[in-house]
Amino acid sequence: MEKQNPPPYSPPGPGFQVSPPAQGYPPPPTQGYQPPPPPVSEHHTVIVTHMSPMALGPQPTAITCPSCHAQIVTTVETEATTKTHLFALLLCLFGCYPCCCIPYCVDSCQSQNHYCPNCRAYLGKYDN
Ligand SMILES: [Zn+2]
Repeated sequence: MEKQNPPPYSPPGPGFQVSPPAQGYPPPPTQGYQPPPPPVSEHHTVIVTHMSPMALGPQPTAITCPSCHAQIVTTVETEATTKTHLFALLLCLFGCYPCCCIPYCVDSCQSQNHYCPNCRAYLGKYDN
């Protein structure tokens, strides 16, 4: 039965040469070793607070303002959109020059932006 452990110290024999043993010298256990931290359970709920425009009609709508949390009736402001300009351009292309301003006067060709009369927050728009 032969042991594999190298002798920690070889007795000096004839022709002894000082050489550090390359093996058989286990590194000391790392001091201050800390076990890996336990996995942090992430149960916190991410609350998305960004305001998404609501689906609103063309008329002033009674809602609760998400900005000031007041019961309000939205203020509708009509705004010309790309579609409005497109309609005007189409009317010009078809020769209805006098009519090209009509889309800017027709609410259905424009988008209605809803604002809170209380805090002037933009609430959404009705785009038809
Ligand atoms: Zn408000």
